[in-house]
Amino acid sequence: MIELASRLNRIVESNTLRMAKLSRELQAQGKDVINLSLGEPDFQTPQHIKDAAKKAIDDGFTFYTPVVGYLDLRQAISEKFKRENGLDYPADQIVVSTGAKQSIINVLLSLLNAGDEVIIPTPFWVSYSEMVKLSEGVPVYVHSNVTQDYKPTVSQIEAAITPKTKAFIFSSPCNPTGSVFTKDELYSIAKMFEKYPNIYIISDEIYEHINFIGKHESIGQFDFIKDRVITINGMSKGFAMTGWRLGYIGAPKLIAQACEKLQGQFTSGANSIAQRAALAALQGSLEPTLEMTKAFHRRRDLVLGLMKEIEGFKLNIPGGAFYVFPDVSSYFGKSDGATVINNCEDLCMYILHNANVSIVGGDSFGAPECVRFSYATSDEKLVEAIKRIKEALSKLK
Ligand code: PMP
Ligand code: GLU
Repeated sequence: MIELASRLNRIVESNTLRMAKLSRELQAQGKDVINLSLGEPDFQTPQHIKDAAKKAIDDGFTFYTPVVGYLDLRQAISEKFKRENGLDYPADQIVVSTGAKQSIINVLLSLLNAGDEVIIPTPFWVSYSEMVKLSEGVPVYVHSNVTQDYKPTVSQIEAAITPKTKAFIFSSPCNPTGSVFTKDELYSIAKMFEKYPNIYIISDEIYEHINFIGKHESIGQFDFIKDRVITINGMSKGFAMTGWRLGYIGAPKLIAQACEKLQGQFTSGANSIAQRAALAALQGSLEPTLEMTKAFHRRRDLVLGLMKEIEGFKLNIPGGAFYVFPDVSSYFGKSDGATVINNCEDLCMYILHNANVSIVGGDSFGAPECVRFSYATSDEKLVEAIKRIKEALSKLK
């Protein structure tokens, strides 16, 4: 029997990836499974970005890259931060990584000592809690619910602060709730953290372009806090580039240097071709991104409209990202005669096996009363999936 390292016991498998794997396996067996579990745009990467990647190969971008990323890409990121987000990160404060996932773990491994606490508002993206634990930190959850649009209040966040608090991590637009913090709300959070100079703020803005309610706002724009804000972003969502694996941070210089040191021992610089593609994306037209966002907006309305017809789903109106996150607790305790639904995981399995639709339980997002649907798929599939789910749920009494 192989004895694995105990750190493996500290974390659980990514539930989003587990459900995506399960639905791929069922599809391979010939089952007509509609996969609404994985959060990834169903669109192709825009053509001008693909063209830049092809050109990169022909131009000989086939060598190791600098650990922190090509200088021209980091300059383009620095300009993008300034132009679009009002953020001041010069190129030497930017680190390009193999996806925003790596960017986040780099930062947490750079910041946390054993026992350091990280405040995470719930619902949160599945990997935050596990990455904190992997880094020997302790996640401290601040709970919010559907009635407050899943946004914690400043006093709720402040109440979670202890002398051990090292960081606060959140996403806006939020995966899984789609909630978007306004500039005023971010200002109030920043003002509160101004009083705690030893706490870092990790702002995950990977859904910035998928925002239906107005201009994206970054917490790092406020001068009095900006020296403590690490801004996470990446190409996966706004540019439909999930498979390219490219993310980046803007960070205080010391943290950027720490990430360089770590990454230099883990993966080295990110893929050369993906970096040339990212440069074209950041310097090119945002028109394809805006078109995709329009489609997501339309689908959000479609899904919300159809889900209104499902008894017992309590929903917020997501202002961004491409998920809906209904509270489904009214189904707990019900049965179709054969299966009893005790929790969100039971409901996901019931829906997978009885409706052939794959979704993700809210427990891994810190909200066990909910389930997550990604609506980043075609209108036809969404209509069919919700029809099947409604039918399956109507059998639960
Ligand atoms: N943050 C959030 C909130 C996400 O939903 C994702 C999606 N996987 C990531 C970070 C990581 O993105 P990627 O590694 O594909 O850049
Ligand atoms: N971020 C996406 C999701 O939440 C992709 C899967 C993952 O990396 O966890 O579904």
